[in-house]
Amino acid sequence: MARRQHEESMAPDEAITEYWRQHYCAGDCTICGGRGWFDTTGTCSRAGRPVGRLHYCICPNGQQLRASNFPITSDGAGHPAH
Ligand SMILES: [Zn+2]
Repeated sequence: MARRQHEESMAPDEAITEYWRQHYCAGDCTICGGRGWFDTTGTCSRAGRPVGRLHYCICPNGQQLRASNFPITSDGAGHPAH
């Protein structure tokens, strides 16, 4: 019960961060590697319809990029490739 009350009082980004921490964090983000965004543009539905795109990640870095409305391009999102 205490945990449930805690979850209900969490801000949405805190809940997302906790979910990310439980399932997609291994030191660095296992989804984006810490860049804050990822590219699924080659992904298609089972029917073959292209559904991929550039996404902000759910990790803290991705949430920060989304909150700042930082544009994601195929070249990256404020984190130029080195
Ligand atoms: Zn990430």
